[in-house]
Amino acid sequence: MPTHEEHILRILGEATEPLFPSEITELLNHELRPGAAYMTTEVATRLQALEREVAQLPDGRWMLKRLLRRQSGGEGGDVAISVRAYCPGCKKMVTALPLLDNGDLKPALDSNADVRVMHIAPGGDHVWSLNDQEKGNLRNTIAKRSA
Ligand SMILES: [Zn+2]
Repeated sequence: MPTHEEHILRILGEATEPLFPSEITELLNHELRPGAAYMTTEVATRLQALEREVAQLPDGRWMLKRLLRRQSGGEGGDVAISVRAYCPGCKKMVTALPLLDNGDLKPALDSNADVRVMHIAPGGDHVWSLNDQEKGNLRNTIAKRSA
């Protein structure tokens, strides 16, 4: 069962442009059964808790930092890093994208923090956390790249 944060990250990942908290709330409520209705204030609070993965634009809309970077043309050829990992949604190995942007990824791996990744699947994105072995593989990928 995905957490509220995972729902929000997935919705932002599927969006082609930044969304206002009210729009995210509408999308969440559209997907979920009646009774699970979200409040915009609750969504705004959760967005703030996801500050490592999402960013608020000056106009008040939110988007994934990863997509923001891509949209602004990247910083010095900052190519997205991917990792082979077992997707619990698809129950198979897939190419997954870390939700942290490249600058935040290495410190997270070095401190063995939770590293969440996204698999862009046809029926909707899957979001989960890497296991220790996958984090090790990702650490090696980054080390090779910067060598
Ligand atoms: Zn998947």
